[in-house]
Amino acid sequence: MSAETRSCQACWTEFTATTPTKIYCSDRCRKHAWEQRKHSDTAATVTEARPPAHSRPPPVPARIAANPSPSSLC
Ligand SMILES: [Zn+2]
Repeated sequence: MSAETRSCQACWTEFTATTPTKIYCSDRCRKHAWEQRKHSDTAATVTEARPPAHSRPPPVPARIAANPSPSSLC
């Protein structure tokens, strides 16, 4: 008899843990918690690794770049 009732670490719903290491009631909560943790981990590093906006010009559509006639724009 290894099952025990505990609270999910993501939604705090009581569930029956089938394994001692299980801390979430479902895969959905496990993934949700993992995504939250991943998001908070990358949020701090992404802003530093990101190049400044002005260093990257916006992409020009090939159709306008190849045929720069004013009539096609209006
Ligand atoms: Zn849950």
